[in-house]
Amino acid sequence: MFCRKCGKPIPDDSCFCPACGSPTNDTSLPAQESNPTLYTLTIDRASQVFLASPPIKVTIDNTTYLSVENGHTESVQLQPGKHRLLFKCSLRSAQLDIDLQKNTVVELSWNRITGKIVTNIFEH
Ligand SMILES: [Zn+2]
Repeated sequence: MFCRKCGKPIPDDSCFCPACGSPTNDTSLPAQESNPTLYTLTIDRASQVFLASPPIKVTIDNTTYLSVENGHTESVQLQPGKHRLLFKCSLRSAQLDIDLQKNTVVELSWNRITGKIVTNIFEH
């Protein structure tokens, strides 16, 4: 079965969702379809001019891997709920935890002064 709250799969004999901790018999929440609606997560990397612009490697929930080139946009379909995004480029990394409830755009850019990966979330 699937969690009524976050949509993650749960063992049928489990009383609580291992992902979000919701009780499986909580009828106050609407039941999720076994194939819940997917939302589009778009990674939009700003076009910035540097001497070297290696791709930013994006890891989503340790299962999905994207490589986003300078000025490019990549999209994935994800189940609603919490997701962990890791961004890596050279020695820099950044982490972003999101709670996906609608189609979402994450803008990526560099902070020219600190060299850090900067993320901004926009929900649509
Ligand atoms: Zn859950």
